[in-house]
Amino acid sequence: MTKQIVCADAGMDCSFVVQSESEDELVEMVTLHGEHQHDVEMEKNDIRDLIKPA
Ligand SMILES: [Zn+2]
Repeated sequence: MTKQIVCADAGMDCSFVVQSESEDELVEMVTLHGEHQHDVEMEKNDIRDLIKPA
């Protein structure tokens, strides 16, 4: 099953959406996105809470 994380769900004014079947991959990509685009370090547990079915 494909899952997704929507950056706006983290409270960002941002249209970034990432989809993957791997939760680890989602967390990794959002971690990098947060650091590069928003200059924030997000907790992996917080990122996992944002995972939803795509
Ligand atoms: Zn973003």
